[in-house]
Amino acid sequence: MKNLLFSSVSLVPFSFLFPNVSLANEKPATIKIETTIPYLTDLVKKASCDSKSFQIENIISVGNDPHTFHMTPSNRIAIAKADVIISVGSGLEPWISKIQKNKNQTWFTVTENMSLTKLDNNHDHNHDHDHETKEHNHLEYDPHIWQSPKLTKEALLKISNLLIKLKPEEEKNINTCTQDYIHKIEVEVKELKKQIETIPKEKRVFATNHNALGYFADEFGFKMKSIVGLSDEASPTPAQLKDIIMQIKKENIKALFLESTGNMRNIKTVSKETGVKIGGTLYSDSLGTKGSGAETAPEMWKTNVSTILNALKK
Ligand SMILES: [Zn+2]
Repeated sequence: MKNLLFSSVSLVPFSFLFPNVSLANEKPATIKIETTIPYLTDLVKKASCDSKSFQIENIISVGNDPHTFHMTPSNRIAIAKADVIISVGSGLEPWISKIQKNKNQTWFTVTENMSLTKLDNNHDHNHDHDHETKEHNHLEYDPHIWQSPKLTKEALLKISNLLIKLKPEEEKNINTCTQDYIHKIEVEVKELKKQIETIPKEKRVFATNHNALGYFADEFGFKMKSIVGLSDEASPTPAQLKDIIMQIKKENIKALFLESTGNMRNIKTVSKETGVKIGGTLYSDSLGTKGSGAETAPEMWKTNVSTILNALKK
């Protein structure tokens, strides 16, 4: 009788008998994740099926330029409280190296072991104003993975595997939602490529003032020109302006594009001086705010493609 009683009791979960006692190896019910940029937050949300098990925030708020970000005391507090910190890496968030890492935290760098494009910063220019181009010259590899459908799928899978390690009991859901988002991305990219093909190949050229859209141009079949001398900070000198006008004529550039996170003054000056119209604003370094139509990476590609095509069709 005694044995029978004991065995029936042992079927009751330990946590039910002692609700206030947590097992040493028991993971917290909600895992706090801090990502560096809203793009990563979207990937975590999509891969996790918006599961309540993960509480997700991003450090850099939407619409802000990650290259010029400076950490605030409240960012530090949020990071210290997080269980998991997910960053892009490859030089996008140099401030991360200054944070004291807590050994109970998981620090995850999405671009680790990813094959990224090597940035050729001195490519066909020998001017001394290279250093002005938005701190990109400190970067060895192109970190703008949000502009790449291919790398976005890779990032999503990596994040998905991480979430499964954190919450193995949600593996099935995580796998399903990850595959759903990959499918959505593939359908969107196919549709956008179809639209792009309606424009003659030689016309598929666009110009901006920094090279954030390299992956986007490569994968969607555009030729991208970043105009030398057109930096964010400094106004072009008369000599640089002459140089810029020559580049625009030589490359037969029909439209200039502003960037959502960039300084618009210089490109407006160039447009005025060259008579080349401004074709619109492209999302380059950040996703768009709520209601912008660029809240996720696939929506951002769609909006950028439509902005470029509208300008090139005119
Ligand atoms: Zn950038």
